[in-house]
Amino acid sequence: MPDDTLRVMCPNLACRKILAVPSSARGKTVRCRGCSTSIRIPGLKSEPARPAEPPPTAAKPAA
Ligand SMILES: [Zn+2]
Repeated sequence: MPDDTLRVMCPNLACRKILAVPSSARGKTVRCRGCSTSIRIPGLKSEPARPAEPPPTAAKPAA
């Protein structure tokens, strides 16, 4: 069983079908097969968040 399958629930309360989508569908929109509702597949962590880089130190330590 491949790990790269995501399961999303249809947001349509009258449907609520569990859809299995490939991880390649992240950030894209798929259509529910049950009710044709467009479902947005979230990315890895909502947004491509960059690791917080420390600001460049302006004050250099006096050698
Ligand atoms: Zn649906």
